Amino acid sequence: MIAGGGLAGLSLAAHLAVSGWGDRRVLVVDDPRARPSAVSWGFWSARPGLLDSAVSLTYQRVLFRAGGLDRVLPLGRYRYRVVRRPDLSAVVRRILLPCHGFEFLNGTVEHVAEDGTVTVDGRRVNGAWVFDSVTGPAGHPPVDARLAFTGWAVRCARPVFDPATPVLFDFRTPQRDGARFLYVLPDDPYRALVELTAFVPRHGRPPAAADRRAALAAYLSDELHAGGYAVSRTESAVLPLRTRAVPRRHGRVLAIGAAAGLVKASTGYAYERIQRDSAAIARSLVRHGHPFDPGPVRRRYRLLDAVLLDVFDRDPAAIEGAFARLFAALPAERVLRFLDEDDTAIDVLRVMAALPPRPYRLRRNLPDEVPNPPALTGLWRH
Ligand SMILES: Cc1cc2nc3c(=O)[nH]c(=O)nc-3n(C[C@H](O)[C@H](O)[C@H](O)COP(=O)(O)OP(=O)(O)OC[C@H]3O[C@@H](n4cnc5c(N)ncnc54)[C@H](O)[C@@H]3O)c2cc1C
Repeated sequence: MIAGGGLAGLSLAAHLAVSGWGDRRVLVVDDPRARPSAVSWGFWSARPGLLDSAVSLTYQRVLFRAGGLDRVLPLGRYRYRVVRRPDLSAVVRRILLPCHGFEFLNGTVEHVAEDGTVTVDGRRVNGAWVFDSVTGPAGHPPVDARLAFTGWAVRCARPVFDPATPVLFDFRTPQRDGARFLYVLPDDPYRALVELTAFVPRHGRPPAAADRRAALAAYLSDELHAGGYAVSRTESAVLPLRTRAVPRRHGRVLAIGAAAGLVKASTGYAYERIQRDSAAIARSLVRHGHPFDPGPVRRRYRLLDAVLLDVFDRDPAAIEGAFARLFAALPAERVLRFLDEDDTAIDVLRVMAALPPRPYRLRRNLPDEVPNPPALTGLWRH
């Protein structure tokens, strides 16, 4: 049984269907009235994925503006892609067509018990295994920082956007207590999603709604010179970032998606992690008859995320310089490989060496597996 038919729930259903589990019974329960966390997902990848036919936008380059760097970055083997929720849903339903035991149920998951009993609209349903993207495990680790997004889907009176080049980071907005940047995802020269993202340190507060609106309006008029525009849709969310591992397994229940801590703490992205996790769960079920073999554990990345977040938490103003330095010193493909957790140890060292030297004391905020803070601090020095 899959609780929640969002990114993680649908991805898992599709991976189960193609991995040798397609002749089993799988129930996906989703509450269409619940507000899903995201309506579309941007991600970068260098390899084909099972759900690629849901991709509606693909870019070969991105624009980056930070710390005096103003550059269009070719992505090499990588592509920046966008999947919208309705397309994901349609593609997954198509993949599941031959799987007669897979069903969708509209309902509200009220409780998930460790023995696999799920309460949906007051009725109990039993699953041999439950994959839970809704309630999440109790006792989540603490939040280390947050990302506050406010996005406007705008339509401008004149052509403003380069449809071939999304803006991944543009720091040309007043930086107040935290770090802020703009993200622009163009549909065509007139229409784009323009999003303000604020990094909120652990003890900070997300910017007020009026402040975010003012920053977006100022960016559109002062930086993009958009002139007249209409906002057709707005989205706003605050995404918790955690560097400590979430205890995912409880009896017959495995947390998936954001509830399983799959949002990468240093970027706020989860799409590719969720795809890999879905594939690993399906593989484990088919090979072992249980879903709990996650494949190789990637502790190194959790550790690196913790280092980055610790630095950003102490000194949010360092974010702009750190990213500018990274993208100035290294080809975008290498940085993306690092952020995509697809690199070698040498790549990691190159990336760390490109970051600015700072006398960071790292212990305060790191997960338990951090072995030796002085050695890590050394990674940041030349
Ligand atoms: C605003 C925002 C934008 C993001 N953008 C990106 C991005 O561009 N790229 C990226 O990689 N990551 C992004 N993320 C991070 C992450 O990828 C998303 O949060 C992702 O949707 C997580 O997948 P999920 O399945 O855990 O949650 P969701 O996709 O939110 O799915 C949860 C599902 O459960 C349903 N539900 C909720 N409550 C109940 C209930 N009680 N009973 C039954 N069903 C219920 C919801 O309707 C939803 O369909 C973003 C996050 C946010 C908040």
